[in-house]
Amino acid sequence: MEELEQEQLQQLKKQLLQIRTELEKQLSNNKEAAGIVELDQSVIGRVTRMDAIQQQSMAVSTRNKARQRLKKVNLAISNFANGDYGYCRQCDEAIALLRLQAQPESSLCLSCQSKADNSSQRAP
Ligand SMILES: [Zn+2]
Repeated sequence: MEELEQEQLQQLKKQLLQIRTELEKQLSNNKEAAGIVELDQSVIGRVTRMDAIQQQSMAVSTRNKARQRLKKVNLAISNFANGDYGYCRQCDEAIALLRLQAQPESSLCLSCQSKADNSSQRAP
């Protein structure tokens, strides 16, 4: 597999920094959204209350996902410094450029990722 051009690396790094900014913004917005549910306890009907709880748990799961992604994005950004970016952390092969462009925080190549997905599905 071909190694990444310097220019492509810079582009991917820019993408990662953008994603990080967006995720951080999303995480601070969600914090407020999760707090709103506590309001209006006296007026709120049972159904609306259920709705609110559901919305809150959705907000929490979106937030968890965002937080996990942020962790990966930060890791990928730190990999630029030591030249590890773009290489699979499992088999050390270069990760396909198309995959990195679609998901710049990828730390596994496609074949290692699908192996990891399969084994996590099998686990309880
Ligand atoms: Zn791999």
